[in-house]
Amino acid sequence: VCGLRSNRENKSPGSSPGLLHLEEFLERLFQWFANNRRDLPWRAEYAPYRVFVAEVMLAQTQVPRVIPYYCRFLERFPDVFALASALREEVLLAWEGLGYYRRAHHLHEAAQRIVEHFQGRIPADFRTLRRLPGIGPYIASAILGIGYNLPVLALDTNVRRVLSRVFGAGEDVDLREIGNLLVSHMPSGKARHLNEALMDFGALVCLSRNPRCSPCPFREFCTFVKDARKERRVRQQRVLLEMCVAVCCAGEEVLLTKSEGKLFPGLWGLPLREQDGEDPRAWIDALGKRYGFLPLALEECGAVAHAYTRYRVRARVLRVSGKRTGMLSEAAWVAFRELFQYPLPSLFRKALALGCPEEYQP
Ligand code: SF4
Repeated sequence: VCGLRSNRENKSPGSSPGLLHLEEFLERLFQWFANNRRDLPWRAEYAPYRVFVAEVMLAQTQVPRVIPYYCRFLERFPDVFALASALREEVLLAWEGLGYYRRAHHLHEAAQRIVEHFQGRIPADFRTLRRLPGIGPYIASAILGIGYNLPVLALDTNVRRVLSRVFGAGEDVDLREIGNLLVSHMPSGKARHLNEALMDFGALVCLSRNPRCSPCPFREFCTFVKDARKERRVRQQRVLLEMCVAVCCAGEEVLLTKSEGKLFPGLWGLPLREQDGEDPRAWIDALGKRYGFLPLALEECGAVAHAYTRYRVRARVLRVSGKRTGMLSEAAWVAFRELFQYPLPSLFRKALALGCPEEYQP
């Protein structure tokens, strides 16, 4: 009972704490919709043809831009017979400026087939609809769910976002499964309402950037809000570490060592240590002796920030230029262009980008 507007595959089915609130979700959604329903011209009167035209136009275009085109198009081609009998040039003329003209070609062809094979009645069956030109799973679902008010949910980008956020779909919860559950729990004859309410909610409240969570009726059980709270708590509990990281360069090569501290034990990385307020030169000299390197110039490059497990790291980046004097087994001199072969923690990648912007190409 669900149709997708995009091709992205969903993950495997599972369960979500948000699903415990399914009925409450529907009740609150319908309440919200009663007060906030968008007044759109294709909602003035429900007919599968009107939904079909609107959804084809909306497929690649924003609502405000579609409205005048839709009104003119419906005036010129008020039903499927008028559209089917029109010349292709007339249809394209009505479409002019809306872009993606293939949609107009398909719409016209579909209208002709509907008149020819279905006596002008748009099929009320998913498979038959899908065989018509330009009708993908999403448009077919919209025609059925909105045009015919059948228990079908059309999953456009807005609807997908709302369901993913409220019910935590994506990782282990299947979006279509949630859609099916909603459809099976909604009061009968409410499919059109459900589809439009979810679309409007995604377009007006649960925006892709900066969702309006404070006045949202689903706030108390929305998985997105719960996860954000958890993430905030983790962030607040992180311990701040002030570090110093050395990017030691010799010609086209950079020094990598095995990390020894508590941050990335045993992993390849840049020399790193906690800041102790001392002049870092002594540390750099010690590094040179330990790893067979003669430091010749030291440059302060700024700082990078990074969060890692329970730490917040702020690292001062020092670029040290010099030359190699020997080689020890616990270190590696690696050409910048070969660095991609090392799975370096991103703190070091950030330090390399800051310390050696010309040599390092991430
Ligand atoms: S609480 Fe925020 S993220 Fe959750 S559904 Fe409402 S607006 Fe969307």
